[in-house]
Amino acid sequence: MKYIRESLAQLFGAEPVKPAKEDIRPAAQEIHFYKKANPITKQFVEDLHDRPKSHKWRNRRWLTLLFINLLFVLSYQLDIQLLEGALTASRFAGFHMADLNSALQVMLAFKEVVLNLIIGTTTILIMWLLLGGRSFCSWVCPYHMLAEWAEAIHLWLVNKKIIENKTFHRGVRTVFYVIFALLAIVTGYTVFETISPTGIISRALIYGPGYALIFVGVLLLFEIFVSRRAWCRYVCPIGMTYGIVGTVSPMRVTYHLQDCAHEGDCRKVCLVPHVLDVTIKTRARDSRVDLGADCTRCGLCVDLCPTDSLRFEFKMPGKQT
Ligand code: SF4
Ligand code: SF4
Repeated sequence: MKYIRESLAQLFGAEPVKPAKEDIRPAAQEIHFYKKANPITKQFVEDLHDRPKSHKWRNRRWLTLLFINLLFVLSYQLDIQLLEGALTASRFAGFHMADLNSALQVMLAFKEVVLNLIIGTTTILIMWLLLGGRSFCSWVCPYHMLAEWAEAIHLWLVNKKIIENKTFHRGVRTVFYVIFALLAIVTGYTVFETISPTGIISRALIYGPGYALIFVGVLLLFEIFVSRRAWCRYVCPIGMTYGIVGTVSPMRVTYHLQDCAHEGDCRKVCLVPHVLDVTIKTRARDSRVDLGADCTRCGLCVDLCPTDSLRFEFKMPGKQT
């Protein structure tokens, strides 16, 4: 229960805290103690960096994302009716599916429980509950892929000292979440859906480009020149809705303390580095820790970790944290 509370608090914007000594399990205390007595040398870390880099999970993820979005396009263009609609609401082989956040926005706008949406939402809820909540972001959302490419340019510019990355408090995403919900209630209109890059890109791919793509372009420029991954980090309520679903998901990335070199490379590539706070020296409460609900299961850290201390696992959360 404590794991779920902390995971949700961080999702809503709280910063991770260093665990009190009495909260650290004996197995983890032993490893922390051993590592303190036998510090990892600079040479060891340099040797780790010399290992060949893997892009296994990233490539699998990009292929899956392209495949799902192409399926929408081909179903519409070839009229094969396998996957009809767009990411916000669709039918797969006749089964209704509705994006959880869109369904929520529609019900808030209409101020009633829409029966058709309940069926579609339940299917999607069960699916993402099993698959890991925010894995929707990194494995399905088309904006995520564009934002990853924009992020690469942003990081290059930062490394060259041409620009500085501007950060904001993560709690603003919770504020936006409430604002979008209130806007739907007050206006009776799903305001967020008109500006959501996820929906805009999905519809543009299927039905052809529209003026709304200009907004997506502006967002990407903002992320390149001002703030790294700003939309996903500080605004998008879809990520938050799926994050809540992912809190109890059995599909997660887990951290294994034993072999971790604490060099911190994983935190540098992560969209939500606060979930990797456990990889900082003495932060892990147990020898195995489930990463928090904000983790998108993108696998970048899994690919990058030179000691295989970060792994995808499918098991019930919270048992050892
Ligand atoms: S946070 Fe929103 S825009 Fe970003 S990847 Fe998730 S759904 Fe897509
Ligand atoms: S913790 Fe790892 S898998 Fe999760 S979002 Fe960050 S880089 Fe991706």
